[in-house]
Amino acid sequence: MSARRRELSRADRVLPGLWRLRLPLPWPGVPHVNAFAIAAVDGVVLVDTGLHEPGAMRQLERALDQAGLSVEHVRLLVCTHAHSDHYGQAAPIMERSGCELWMHPNHAHMTKAASHPERTFERRLEVARQSGVPPRALAEYESARRNQGYGVAEIVTGDRDLVPGVEVSTDLGTWQVHETPGHAPSHVVLHQPERGLLLSGDHLLGRVSLYYDYGWSPDPAGEFLSSLDVVDGLDVQLILAGHGRPVRDAPALIEANRQAVRERLGRVRSAIADGPRTPFEVVPEVIDTELPPAMMIGWGLSETLCYLRHLELSGEAEKAEEDGTERWYAREP
Ligand SMILES: [Zn+2]
Ligand SMILES: [Zn+2]
Repeated sequence: MSARRRELSRADRVLPGLWRLRLPLPWPGVPHVNAFAIAAVDGVVLVDTGLHEPGAMRQLERALDQAGLSVEHVRLLVCTHAHSDHYGQAAPIMERSGCELWMHPNHAHMTKAASHPERTFERRLEVARQSGVPPRALAEYESARRNQGYGVAEIVTGDRDLVPGVEVSTDLGTWQVHETPGHAPSHVVLHQPERGLLLSGDHLLGRVSLYYDYGWSPDPAGEFLSSLDVVDGLDVQLILAGHGRPVRDAPALIEANRQAVRERLGRVRSAIADGPRTPFEVVPEVIDTELPPAMMIGWGLSETLCYLRHLELSGEAEKAEEDGTERWYAREP
């Protein structure tokens, strides 16, 4: 039994007809995820779901109850992206409310991975091995992560593809869909232009926190940068982010994200400037803090591989393979 006391969910009314539902997460450093309930005729549109774990439905019910709502009021479920904390409870919510699920069709990074967990994990180990993770660290990672589960109740795919042109109608007006891959290939944001509202999911968070799904699209870091341009072109007065409080200054936040990516790309560039390095050797240059091996391999290695891949596509880096291990070096521009 964990001694840690679990936080309770709660609802904050952001605007009349729009509630932020704070749902607790069991993750270190990420205490909760936000779902949003938006009034729509005789019920609500629910944006995102919370993670699937014991007690998750009770937490959602508790937050909805504070807003004077229940799960049965959900008329439509929309997911900003198919990560477990935003999608994990989709199946039970659909079952209870009879609502449809709309999400972006590029959700294989979750739906395919979670349908074949063994194969996905073997592939991850293989990538780690190729990236120069030493056997001992690899074994630690394996024992920490194997059979960890996905935090998803059941794999469900959307009733409708959430792509540009699709509109989500609510009492606060119509929301438009913009594709924002990078953090995840399935990521979209919802924009309400008359009110300048942006449901940003994990694309923009109050605190800059970079994360990419590696291996499901050609250039996650480059895609993320392009997606920052997408939201930069929208009129945004208030960002309703997937974690943390709503944020007002969109231009500053977008610029801070660009800077963070540029800065990390710079670190990777200098790490490979003097000689071939394995991706794993580059991880400590990218990640400031000392992380447990499982996180260095999971999160840190994915992020580093995304930057290397980005520099490879821009012609600034090249890799050579020897004995199944890849080593990267800078290329003369
Ligand atoms: Zn996410
Ligand atoms: Zn999230």
